[in-house]
This record gives sequence, structure tokens and C-alpha cells, in this order.
Amino acid sequence: MNKSLKDIVDSYQKDTVKTLQKLIQIKSVEAKAKKGMPFGEGIDQTLNEFLKTAEQLGLKTKNVDGYAGHVEIGEGDELLAVLCHLDVVPEGSNWKYPPYAAEIHDNKMYGRGTIDDKGPAVASLYALKAVKESEVKLNKRVRLIVGTDEESGWEGLKYYFKKEEQPDIAFSPDAGYPVIHAEKGILIFDLNYELNEEERVVDNRSNFKYEVLSLKGGNAPNMVPDSCELLMRTEHGKTLEKKLNKFQNENDLEIEMESLNKTRFKLISSGVSAHGSRPDKGVNAISIMIKFLEKLDRINVGGFVDFYNNKIGMNYYGENIGCDFSDQVSGKLVFNVGQIKYKKGLIKTTINIRYPVTMKKEDVVEAIKDSIDKYDVYLEMKNFQKPLHVPKDDPLVQTLMKVYREISGDNKSKPIAIGGGTYARAVKKGVAFGALFPGEEELAHQKDEYINLDSLHKNTLIIASAIQELAQA
Ligand SMILES: [Zn+2]
Repeated sequence: MNKSLKDIVDSYQKDTVKTLQKLIQIKSVEAKAKKGMPFGEGIDQTLNEFLKTAEQLGLKTKNVDGYAGHVEIGEGDELLAVLCHLDVVPEGSNWKYPPYAAEIHDNKMYGRGTIDDKGPAVASLYALKAVKESEVKLNKRVRLIVGTDEESGWEGLKYYFKKEEQPDIAFSPDAGYPVIHAEKGILIFDLNYELNEEERVVDNRSNFKYEVLSLKGGNAPNMVPDSCELLMRTEHGKTLEKKLNKFQNENDLEIEMESLNKTRFKLISSGVSAHGSRPDKGVNAISIMIKFLEKLDRINVGGFVDFYNNKIGMNYYGENIGCDFSDQVSGKLVFNVGQIKYKKGLIKTTINIRYPVTMKKEDVVEAIKDSIDKYDVYLEMKNFQKPLHVPKDDPLVQTLMKVYREISGDNKSKPIAIGGGTYARAVKKGVAFGALFPGEEELAHQKDEYINLDSLHKNTLIIASAIQELAQA
């Protein structure tokens, strides 16, 4: 490792912390667009502040119409990119310290965005500065590209690449160390069940014993829902309550019942939230609710309940719906029910799938369609991201592994595959690299998010060394 690079990084340690504090103090959750601010004021302010700091450090910058920006050093035809983002997810509640104050306690800076992904973005900024100051000769240009809506639609980065060149190679410090060389493909679609005339009860003279009037659960496709709410009309409130108690005792699952009047009841199931790539770590509140509905005879949504419990149920890997695929590189396909909504005679169930990197999305979709063929359910595609896979023996992976090992001293960790998605997918050839070290607490998108200041510093050095190794190669 180049010693002078370490000295330079050390000399900027205090500035790195100050810059990060400033950026955390600007709340950059996506908000309503304004003129010249496609993702709202907070994000725009953050992008400007970031680029201003880069300019003050003597680095070349460009703001691409408020959609994204970059900081550039070096010369050459080829381009190496570091991909970060400056937007954050909403803070949620119950923080130990205020989420936008960037307070430091026990050598940890607390705040929304400290690890995801403003901390890594600031580390990358000072890494570029250090490489430039080291005067090592580069034969590639290096760009730190900062996106602004990674947590929502990736429109910012798409816009950026319409106007700016694609890098030849890239890495994105927006996950964990060591190198993430494979990210599963992501599919988001709705399974739609249309109720027939008779099932859509509109008056009081239906033949059904239990009538579901509304049903709603989950906030996002990529989350395991922790709550699902249902409104029911029935003359058999007592029986309903009895069945519910029996169900809870037998299954150790939680559904609350509230009576609104003699014939209307609200049921709320409670699960455990988790990231959509890890449904096994949560308990799906929607699946709990539908599992219970099976116990009710003569219910208007019986056809749907039958479909759901037969094909989806409480499974995580698509076992019953024809898509329990897996491969050597990235493991099992993961199946998450993120949302459900019953409105105007249509039950929409939103599914989020992470499929193995060696598969095509068509194979997954066709397998599911075949499996649900005999039900009155149709699949409506919403969104998809193709998988990412850079082989372990590729020079990009090898070089990053070498740099990581030298600086961290961790010789055991191997390149890994994940179900999450980073900006590395948005380029021809890229991988996620950092910024969380093995064993560190995973707090992205949660309360009390923090970055350890030693880790922030180590990140700067690793990123700087990685740039130096990859750009002088
Ligand atoms: Zn992120």
C-alpha cells in the first residue's frame, strides 16, 4: 500500500467528518418536484452542497440538471466510476438521537443517511481528493457519480446516463464488504384476482355468510408487511370471534378484532417487518390474514383465498407457484408478498421476487403463469431489474478483493452474492464494494442509523487505494 496516500487521507479526517455532518443535516427524502428540482428541495440542496464542497477541494464537477452530478479527476479515454447516492429513506420514529442532527456519541455519527449512503459518498469524495493530491499518474479518468433517487425510482441515474457516458468499470460503496459480485434479478408484479358479479357484494341480500368489504396491507413491494387490515360484514360475529381465537391458539399468529357495529368488524393482523430480500427474517401479515380466512365458510372471497393459500401461503421461495429455482452462484429465488389491496372488485397482490443471476426473467414469469393457469388470476408486470454477475476471477473483483484484504486485514471473507440492488446494476460492468464491514450492525433504513467514524476513515482509504489500483492498471 502506498504510504503517502494514507498520510493524505489522514490529513483530511476532520474535514471528512465535518462535510458529512453538513450533508446529514439536510433532509434529502424525495419530495414534490419543483422547477429545476426533479426530486424536491431537500435533495437539490444536498446535491448542490456536495458539488460545492468538491469544488472547494479543487475538483472538477458537473450538475446534470438536478438529476445527478459528478466529480472528476485524471486523464485518459477510459472511465472508472464510483457510484453513490445522496437521497435517503424517511426517518421513521423512536430514534435515540435526532435523525438529522448528525450528533456524535462514542465515536459514532448518528443520522439518516450516515451509512446509506451519504457517509460512503463523502468518503469517496475525499478519496478522489487524496488520489489527486498523491500525484500518482492515472491512465483513466475517475468519476464519482452521485445519484439522487436511488431509494425510489432510479430516474436520476437513468437521466444522467442519457446525457453522460457510461463508465468502463465501476464500483458502488452502497452495501457491504468485501466485494458483491452478484446481485439477483428483481421482478415486481401484481397478481390480479377479479371477483365475479356475485362475489362483489354491494347490498345486504347476499348469499354469503362472511363478506370482505375491504382489504389492505403493506407499504412497499420490497418490505415484508407487518400489518394487514380487513373490513368484514357478517351476521355471525360470535362465530367469527370464536374461530379467530381458535386460529390464534393453534398457530401462534396475531389478529386483532374490533367490532364497529353489530354486523361490521375490523380485523388487523400483525407480522414482523423485514427487507423484501429476506422474507425468512420477517412474518408476513398479509399471509397471516389470508390463512385465517380459510377457516370461514361461505366467504365472498373464497376463490381468492383458495388461490393464495395453495400457491403462496407462508412460503418464501415460490415452492408452490412453480418458481423455486436456484443456482450455484447466487442461491435460491426469493418470493415476497409486499402489498395487497381490494378495491372495486379487484384484489391486487404485489409480489417482489429476487431470482438467481444465471436465469432470465421470462423463464420465471412463464413458470408462474403456467402454475396459476387454472385460477382466475392474471399477472401484471410492474418493474424489473436484470441480475448482475461479474465472475469471481474477473480482474475488477480480484483487484478490489486485494485492496480490501490489505487494508482491513480480513483474509477470510470471500466475494458474495446478495438479493438487494445497488447502482452497480445500472452500468456495463460494476460491483458493489463496501461500505459496511463484516460484523458491523446493519442499520440502513432503520432507526438509530450510524456510521462508526473509524470505519468512515477506513472506507476513505480503501476507496482511494481501489481507485489508484484500478485507474493506473
Ligand atoms: Zn443505498
